[in-house]
Amino acid sequence: MTRPRHSPDVLVAGGGPAGVAAALTLASRGADVVLVHSAPEPGRHVLESLSPLARPLLRGLGVLDRLPSACHAPCYGNQSSWGGPALRSSDFLHGPYGAGWHVDRAPFDAALRRAARAAGVRLHAGRVRSVARHGSRWRATLSGTVMTAPYLVDATGARARLARGLGARVVHTDHLVAVTAEAPVVLPVPDDPYGTRGGPERTSLVESTPFGWWYTASLSHGRHVLMAVTDADLVAGAGLRTPEGWWAALAATRHVRTRAAAHRITPPDRLRVLPAGTSRTLPPAGPGWVAAGDAAAVTDPIAARGITHALATGIAAATALTEEAEGDPRAPSRYAALVDAVHDEFLRARAACYRGEERWDTPFWTRRGTHGGVTRQAAGATPGSSR
Ligand SMILES: Cc1cc2nc3c(=O)[nH]c(=O)nc-3n(C[C@H](O)[C@H](O)[C@H](O)COP(=O)(O)OP(=O)(O)OC[C@H]3O[C@@H](n4cnc5c(N)ncnc54)[C@H](O)[C@@H]3O)c2cc1C
Repeated sequence: MTRPRHSPDVLVAGGGPAGVAAALTLASRGADVVLVHSAPEPGRHVLESLSPLARPLLRGLGVLDRLPSACHAPCYGNQSSWGGPALRSSDFLHGPYGAGWHVDRAPFDAALRRAARAAGVRLHAGRVRSVARHGSRWRATLSGTVMTAPYLVDATGARARLARGLGARVVHTDHLVAVTAEAPVVLPVPDDPYGTRGGPERTSLVESTPFGWWYTASLSHGRHVLMAVTDADLVAGAGLRTPEGWWAALAATRHVRTRAAAHRITPPDRLRVLPAGTSRTLPPAGPGWVAAGDAAAVTDPIAARGITHALATGIAAATALTEEAEGDPRAPSRYAALVDAVHDEFLRARAACYRGEERWDTPFWTRRGTHGGVTRQAAGATPGSSR
């Protein structure tokens, strides 16, 4: 049967992990899905850590075995210097799902979209410019065309473009930014999970500093990311505006500097400033539409759970629309309550994590209530402990 090209059952806007998870879930339930995807801004995503918790989600979506090895490398755990100068390690291999990954987002997302196409999702390159309700359908204006569909998924990322167009608000908790540089890995790569024989470590490394924190990770085939994370208004004061200042700040670390030196990383000639603030979309769903992934709620990268959250909410969003289509009008509001509850839990975990660092009476830390006799109940919480 020929399907009407511009009037699918569900229009999914955004071809990142949330959009693909929603599209795959809907297609597996027999829906005709169009996934509208546009290339993200260059450099929008860094080399990111993917939690082992993503493994069952990727398997359930049927994509775990379809990810080319070039877009990921195993990540066996986290190392962090947080709350004290010593480096502490948490090992994923003690958990139920085994190793996580470091993923190169552009090829990772492209592999997810190929899997969606193979599962029958129709891919449409372009951007959704606006949406409006026309009777029982959404009318979406795209670059150069119009589509209509009874159901809509906003998976456009942190700016939640469609949800905002439908009247939702994006409420920000902070204005964190990541000042990032990428460098090639110079050393050969032996099978060396913790870098003890000189190879790139198969762990993420986080180190707190007076202005915020650093993160580094590497892929096996030649890329390494380093990022300094702080509040947007503190970037200049921390000297992070220029490659020279950024490099001087890196040189003042204890562990990140050591890793950079082991990889013979040289000073960057350019930096990228990426927005990394925490926010939530209110409401994240309504009759006939749902927001998923960052379009529903954005989590602080200290937790390294944005991709997992995107996959999980993409699946849950698709389930809510399916239930609504089957006659349950309350499914979108149940989904919205779930997203809110998960975000509240995340905010509590994040506060506990930041309270684990009490060494500095500086704006970044005092803003997070970590200095000046706050309760020590959360001391010991470390970055990624909510991963
Ligand atoms: C500095 C930084 C470091 C991070 N590190 C990690 C980490 O280590 N681990 C982790 O799990 N998470 C990390 N994250 C979070 C992670 O990147 C996001 O949570 C994740 O990408 C969310 O996926 P998504 O599919 O919701 O949105 P996105 O990946 O942002 O995808 C949205 C897509 O929609 C497209 N789009 C936008 N507007 C439109 C439109 N109008 N029409 C059609 N398409 C549109 C965009 O181009 C994009 O391709 C980090 C984030 C930052 C900023």
